[in-house]
Amino acid sequence: MQTITVIPGDGTGPELTSAALEVLEASGADLKWEIMHAGQTAFEKGMGVLPEETLNSIRRNKVALKGPITTPVGTGFRSINVALRKELDLYVNLRPARTYQGVLSRYDNIDLVVVRENTEDLYAGIEHMVGEDAAESIKIITRKGSERIVRFAFEYARRENRKKVTAVHKANIMKCTDGLFLEVARAVAKEYPDIEFEDRIVDNMCMQLVSKPHLYDVMVMPNLYGDIISDLCAGLVGGLGVAPGANIGENAAIFEPVHGSAPKYAGQNKVNPTAILLSVVLMLKYLGQNEIAVKIEKALAEVIAERKDVTYDLGGEATTSQMTGAVIRKIKSGS
Ligand code: NAD
Repeated sequence: MQTITVIPGDGTGPELTSAALEVLEASGADLKWEIMHAGQTAFEKGMGVLPEETLNSIRRNKVALKGPITTPVGTGFRSINVALRKELDLYVNLRPARTYQGVLSRYDNIDLVVVRENTEDLYAGIEHMVGEDAAESIKIITRKGSERIVRFAFEYARRENRKKVTAVHKANIMKCTDGLFLEVARAVAKEYPDIEFEDRIVDNMCMQLVSKPHLYDVMVMPNLYGDIISDLCAGLVGGLGVAPGANIGENAAIFEPVHGSAPKYAGQNKVNPTAILLSVVLMLKYLGQNEIAVKIEKALAEVIAERKDVTYDLGGEATTSQMTGAVIRKIKSGS
């Protein structure tokens, strides 16, 4: 049986991860878990923000489910999420965005996937002041980094029966960096003749997504564009409460909601478990437990569509545990 690492996280993270574990247990997934800590919770336990034993647990189990972590504002605290991505070389940030009936959104039937490169680009954070009145940041794009992310996008498209991959860039202006990304994307695309390929300049992509989102399917892009476009896509389908994510590398993968720890609601049993449950669905698909993944997603979609047992942000009055309980009842009744 597969063991996964579970990091409850901070703020509302623990209540959300325990909702996810209840659903996993009810679903019959072939999984056991090991609870490990990171973030403020770990810091308060005197373990440091990213304990070595947590990293070792993820290295050993290769798959983790993570609640959001609070990154205290101020100097001296690096982002634990960025540190995890770097330590484990999680070069893919996978963010699906699809509409669910019952969630208020601008369009119906949107089903998009953003594949964001997670280690390079301006996001590498290599920057410095030049004197007092100017600053410089270095944008890094490599052939290896571009090739592995574009290949992931095509493999994902093939596995998920998707029809098209769109590479997003600004190669008309950044001819070296984004030019290299585009050149590599075109070369990799030739190896996947069964999947349509096209490219879009990032500004045009934003406009197209807002006005004609149904034209797109899987989109692959460097880190910074991915950061922005994935939030745009989350907004298109109803916001952060319903946005799941995954960070994936060759040797490990971490599944987590896109939203943060919402500390003002911590301990109130109030927040929406949808994003973490959809992250569980992604995780189960990654582990090849497709049937269970589909069962959970279907149960969740039904609860959302009925609009009865949903949390405040979806227009309901249910608590986190009431909404979770409704999903579990659907799973058990097999409806
Ligand atoms: P946030 O996502 O925690 O909250 C933004 C807004 O969304 C808030 O109004 C909150 O109430 C609401 N919200 C968030 N999750 C919700 C849910 N599941 N259901 C209903 N409403 C929800 O963003 P923030 O306030 O900018 O950040 C809080 C902390 O989280 C910060 O310390 C930040 O660094 C951290 N953070 C962590 C992660 C992560 O661990 N992956 C991601 C983003 C932010």
